[in-house]
Amino acid sequence: MRSTSNSDVRPTLAVWKFASCDGCQLSLLDCEQELLALTGAVRIAHFTEMSRATVSGPYDISLVEGSITTPDDVERIKEVRANSRHLVTIGACAASGGIQALRNFVEPGAYASVVYTHPEYLETLETSTPISAHVAVDYELHGCPIDRHQLLEVLLAFLAGRRPVVAGHSVCQECKARSTVCLLVSDKTACLGPVTRAGCGALCPSVGRGCFGCFGPSDSANVASLTARLRLLGRSDGELDRLLQTFNAAAPAFRSGVGAGRVAAVALEQSRRPSHEGAEQ
Ligand code: SF4
Ligand code: SF4
Ligand code: SF4
Repeated sequence: MRSTSNSDVRPTLAVWKFASCDGCQLSLLDCEQELLALTGAVRIAHFTEMSRATVSGPYDISLVEGSITTPDDVERIKEVRANSRHLVTIGACAASGGIQALRNFVEPGAYASVVYTHPEYLETLETSTPISAHVAVDYELHGCPIDRHQLLEVLLAFLAGRRPVVAGHSVCQECKARSTVCLLVSDKTACLGPVTRAGCGALCPSVGRGCFGCFGPSDSANVASLTARLRLLGRSDGELDRLLQTFNAAAPAFRSGVGAGRVAAVALEQSRRPSHEGAEQ
């Protein structure tokens, strides 16, 4: 890496890209009004989406976007970790493997042969895995993409040496806070809000669309209960599986719900039967 100056005493920030779409890195650039203040507090030392100029590590904070999908990624993330005092992952790709982790659940190469004319030129791993599967992670910020206000809070927290104050509750609470009528109750809309981490301000329900879980599972997500309820409302297993298999398809809580809709619904129905029904059988 090319060093530009060693006289700067600001903490250094580095941003790294792995398998991703760059959308979470753009959230940092999207800070706009706060960006000048941020660059007063930290020295952006490595951020190739913003500048070719880089400063040699080690770095005080590294933001890591993307999942691990190639043999080179496996080695590179270890170097990033070794060069970072704090490592924070940003986005669904980095936290759960991203939408590219759909390949984890099919035959190796099944998607590559459909997407690429010459998949034989690809050198990829059979799975897409989160950063935490390879190195220690100090904090995971969720979202696809992440919310810039949450990103600023995380950066400020690490600079101040405290834990970030980021909500772990569900999107439903944000829905209530902005007085949005519940789509699931009023319209039987398939909505993952009850099991999805807050952070977007309940954006989709506010425009009449069910949440599809882009912020990943909330801290106490009860996916089995939600899939049982949605199935009782008429949603098919296929619909439920598609709902759970998007940007956070490999997140364990969402994964546990795939194929589980029917099982959960039967269990719920059984639990609601009067106890004497069971005694008569
Ligand atoms: S989490 Fe979403 S926005 Fe962020 S890099 Fe991955 S695909 Fe892009
Ligand atoms: S619309 Fe969705 S997110 Fe909002 S309260 Fe209903 S279930 Fe929860
Ligand atoms: S409502 Fe759900 S899908 Fe929509 S932005 Fe928020 S977390 Fe993502």
